[in-house]
Amino acid sequence: MKFIPVAEPDLRGNERKYALECIDSSWISSLGKYIPAFEDKFSSYCGAAQGISVSNGTNALHLALAALGIGKGDEVVIPDLTFVATANAVAYTGAKPVLVDSDEKTWNIDSSKIAEIITPKTKAVIPVHLYGHPCDMDPIMELAKERNLYVIEDCAEAHGASYKGKKVGSIGDVGCFSFYGNKILTTGEGGMCLTSDENLAERMRFLKDHGMSKRRYFHPEIGFNYRMTNLQAAIGLAQLERIDEIIAAKIRNAKLYRDFLKSCEGITLQPEEPYAKTVYWMHSILLEDKFRCNRDLLMHELKSNEIDSRPFFIPMHELPPYEQEGFPVSSDLSRKGINLPSSTLLEEEDIKRVCSVISGK
Ligand SMILES: *Cc1c(COP(=O)(O)O)cnc(C)c1O
Repeated sequence: MKFIPVAEPDLRGNERKYALECIDSSWISSLGKYIPAFEDKFSSYCGAAQGISVSNGTNALHLALAALGIGKGDEVVIPDLTFVATANAVAYTGAKPVLVDSDEKTWNIDSSKIAEIITPKTKAVIPVHLYGHPCDMDPIMELAKERNLYVIEDCAEAHGASYKGKKVGSIGDVGCFSFYGNKILTTGEGGMCLTSDENLAERMRFLKDHGMSKRRYFHPEIGFNYRMTNLQAAIGLAQLERIDEIIAAKIRNAKLYRDFLKSCEGITLQPEEPYAKTVYWMHSILLEDKFRCNRDLLMHELKSNEIDSRPFFIPMHELPPYEQEGFPVSSDLSRKGINLPSSTLLEEEDIKRVCSVISGK
């Protein structure tokens, strides 16, 4: 039986050609033509003026927070249900991540619960476009304007998704992307910050390269080494050439899952709000109480049929560094949610096989 993974890089375009070009020319480190090319093309694809490439998505978030001057004594609002990198990036600055429960319908941060936890220490909000579905950004942007907060979009799972016709990453002050191996676009490891604020872009470029001034080896501040390599950018550029194709495959597969699972009782499919164009980073479902078995048992059944799957993230409030009480919606989503095989290399037959295991037929 063929093994069906949850995710795998789709490298069918110019990835090999551009990567070999780096090796043949010996430009494999963090200088070279592919870096500005990838930054320019990715930022314009997303509708932002500036792209600052970095070494991974976690560093993209940390760099954005650091460049905005967020640090010790500050608070940053994040969703309880996210990948741990969102919380950790805040913690790295010395600021405190303040958790907000999920919206039952979209699985994203419940924007109606943000206002009540804002204090004079709150400096920023990080909405996370979870599993490829954009957050409801209008209420967040309005609140941020009213209360003078920065908005950093965590777009690690939502390359190419849009909110009311605007691509994610171009709405807040900064948009942060990851190009990890299982993301919609991959460079192996990698990330990017987008902004349309030129001063902020310059500040991020300065901090990501050890805070070096125009005078070589003069470092007026403590910066970081968050540079991407030309080799990564080469792969990223080739990936970007095929982004429409990659997203179309995700959407096609989501439709196949929907068709094959529609008669299966006890399953809630992924949402798509009228304001959203989701990109289905993962094909996610919720197993409700009336489903024929629990989530962990289904994962076991899939595994014995050579099919990989993932549970939803464990919410931040259940992790020792961020432990606290409450958050009924995210706890419930986390318990019921499962990510199904989401590779763009899947064939219709593969999805059919996954769905027949789920249906127990
Ligand atoms: C993947 C991911 C990140 C971090 O990206 P890395 O490149 O792995 O550091 C951040 N936030 C979310 C929501 C993610 O899914």
